[in-house]
Amino acid sequence: MTTVTLIPGDGIGPEITEAVKAIFAAAQVPLTWEEENAGQTTFDAMGELIPQRLIDSLERNKIALKGPITTPVGKGFKSVNVQLRQKFDLYSNVRPAKTTAGVKTRFENVDLVLFRENTEGLYAGLETFDERLGISDSIARVTVQGSYKIIRAAFQFAEKHNRKKVTVAHKANILKSAGRIFLEAAAQVSKEFPNVVWDDKIIDNMCMQLVSKPEQFDVVVTTNLFGDILSDLCAGLVGGLGVVAGANIGDDMAIFEAVHGSAPDIAGQGLANPTALLRSALMMLEHMGLHDKARQIENALEKTLLDKNCCTRDLGGTASTSEFAQHIISNL
Ligand code: NAD
Repeated sequence: MTTVTLIPGDGIGPEITEAVKAIFAAAQVPLTWEEENAGQTTFDAMGELIPQRLIDSLERNKIALKGPITTPVGKGFKSVNVQLRQKFDLYSNVRPAKTTAGVKTRFENVDLVLFRENTEGLYAGLETFDERLGISDSIARVTVQGSYKIIRAAFQFAEKHNRKKVTVAHKANILKSAGRIFLEAAAQVSKEFPNVVWDDKIIDNMCMQLVSKPEQFDVVVTTNLFGDILSDLCAGLVGGLGVVAGANIGDDMAIFEAVHGSAPDIAGQGLANPTALLRSALMMLEHMGLHDKARQIENALEKTLLDKNCCTRDLGGTASTSEFAQHIISNL
């Protein structure tokens, strides 16, 4: 049986984690959880943001499910999410966005998967502030090697899942060198995948196209900051951050995570929707080759989402987090 590191996180993290654990236990998913936390909670309790015990667990298991972690804005510690991504070179941030019956949105037939480069660009941590001159420099570092890796991951995914097209989103008209590196990597890598069509879009046009005709996109790949923004935009197309999954994948480790934050405004009240973390856990099952279990639970989730009364408040229902989980369990 595979052991998976479980990071409950902060705020609503523990509540949605309990819901996922209950659903997995009911579905008899063959895995064992090894719970090690990180973030504000562990910092307050033991003065450590990312305890060594968690690092050891991740290095041992190579696979994890993570709840949201609180990050102070504009001050304080560097994001735990960013630290984990960089420490373990989890260079692919993968975010599927698919319309679900029962989740009301403005669009129908959205079914795309976004690949965001996860370790470089403006998130490389190369920031300076000259107080005397009042100037802050944030360096967006894009490397040839990093560009090849994320673009190859997107094409490999497209080929494996019979996706027809990869769209490369960039700003090469203004960011002449970083954009060129990314586009040249796409042109080279595409030669290894003759069955996958590809095109490219300048990021501003990409945003406009996504919110007017999202069904034209299949697999999208882009650099870190553009990907950060596009991934939330894509979540908005299919019902918001409460219902979409996310994964950080490297060559030998993968951390699956709820993409929303720790929601301090509703923490501890039983109001949190566990769907995003559950769907991330289902992506994890697919990654582990447990396709039947993933499908069984996704079917139960989709059936539950059709009945508003069974859903949490954010989806128009009145159920608590644990009641919602129980409805999913009874639909298994
Ligand atoms: P947030 O996603 O926590 O909350 C935004 C709004 O969405 C809130 O009204 C919240 O109640 C609601 N919401 C979020 N998840 C929900 C869920 N599962 N069910 C129901 N409602 C939900 O974003 P924020 O307020 O900007 O950030 C709060 C904290 O989370 C910050 O410290 C931020 O840095 C952190 N954060 C962490 C991650 C992560 O760990 N991956 C991602 C984003 C933000």
